[in-house]
Order: sequence, then C-alpha cells, then structure tokens
Amino acid sequence: MTSVTLHDLSFRLRFSRAEIVERVAEVARDIHADYADREPMFVVVVNGAMFFAVDLLRLVDVPCTMACIQASSYGAGMQSKGVVDFGGLMPNVHGKDVIIVEDIVDTGTTVRAIQAKLAEQLPRSIAVAAVVNKPAAHTEPVHVQYRCFEMESEFLVGYGLDYAGRGRELTDIYELIADVPTQTTETKSN
Ligand code: 5GP
Ligand code: MG
Repeated sequence: MTSVTLHDLSFRLRFSRAEIVERVAEVARDIHADYADREPMFVVVVNGAMFFAVDLLRLVDVPCTMACIQASSYGAGMQSKGVVDFGGLMPNVHGKDVIIVEDIVDTGTTVRAIQAKLAEQLPRSIAVAAVVNKPAAHTEPVHVQYRCFEMESEFLVGYGLDYAGRGRELTDIYELIADVPTQTTETKSN
C-alpha cells in the first residue's frame, strides 16, 4: 500500500517493511556488540513499541529479560500533552542494565520521565532504543543510543504507531500528508 486513510487523515508510505527489518537487524547487532558481557533488561513502552520490541528482542543474541510499562504523553490527537501518565506497575530494575524500548522520541518528555522514574530504583545503566528519533523536536537534551530512523517532525503511523487508536497493525510506516493550503493569487497593476 502506498497510502492509507485513518479516520479523517491520509498518510503516505515512508518506511517500507523491508527497510524496517533491515534497520532493526542493524540496531540488534549494535546492542549485541555493546551488551556482549551484560544481561540487558528491555523495558518496553506499550502499546506503541510492542511491534518493534518483538522484532528486536528476537534478534538480540544476548541473554536478556523484558518487562512492559505504560506511559503516555499523547491524548487522542497529535499534540504532546507535555505530561506523562504511568499506568500499571513499574518493574524492578535495581542494578540492571536497562534498555528502554520506545516507538518515537519526539519532544523527549516521555523518555526523560521514564528515565527519571526508573533511575529512582538505581539501575546500573539506562539506554534508549527507538524506532524513530526526531532530534529537531527535542525540548531538552535526551540521548537516544539506538534508533532505526531519524527524521524531522512529520507525524507517523504504522508499526505500532497510532492515530487516535488506529493504524498500529500496519506493517509499514506512513507519514501524514499535510493539507496543502489554498493558494491566493494577487494581481497588481502598475
Ligand atoms: P514525546 O514525549 O517525546 O514528545 O512523545 C513521545 C510519544 O508521543 C511517543 O512515544 C509516541 O507515543 C508519541 N508520538 C510522537 N511522535 C509521534 C508520531 O509521529 N506518531 C505517533 N503516532 N505518535 C507519536
Ligand atoms: Mg509512545
């Protein structure tokens, strides 16, 4: 599919399943190399990162454990609320080498809040792996050690990412087709 419509909006293909598979394998290799002598604990931020986590964890060839957390800074729309709500229980990460698995790091508010929350339990280290990093949108410094793609601020759906609950199941990643503003032409007579 080269485009999809979800609710009232249309999206065009941005990253194909083949590109995603290739990049996830590269990220898995990087993690494998960096954690060869450690046992990372993947903390998966659901729902968004669950598809990425399944692909990634199956390819990371080191002993590891995983847990899921819920954190949301987005409401039903496309703008970050700037406030992070945690749902469910926080896993015990004391002394662990944690890798937070996220779908997108946009302003960075969510990841920073998760890092701060997990840091209270004194893990040994915390790293971040994300499908997409949007460095230009970061409002505060946040280091995303592992990412499949970097891009500007386009709104994406698919591969776990939703628009108002829809589109998570899409195997490719799509970007919003922005409305083209109506052109007004002015005629000037000299
Ligand atoms: P941040 O707190 O970094 O601004 O936002 C992070 C969260 O907002 C992500 O985990 C993701 O759930 C959501 N988000 C950010 N950008 C996008 C996007 O382009 N598409 C979708 N579907 N969600 C996004
Ligand atoms: Mg998210």
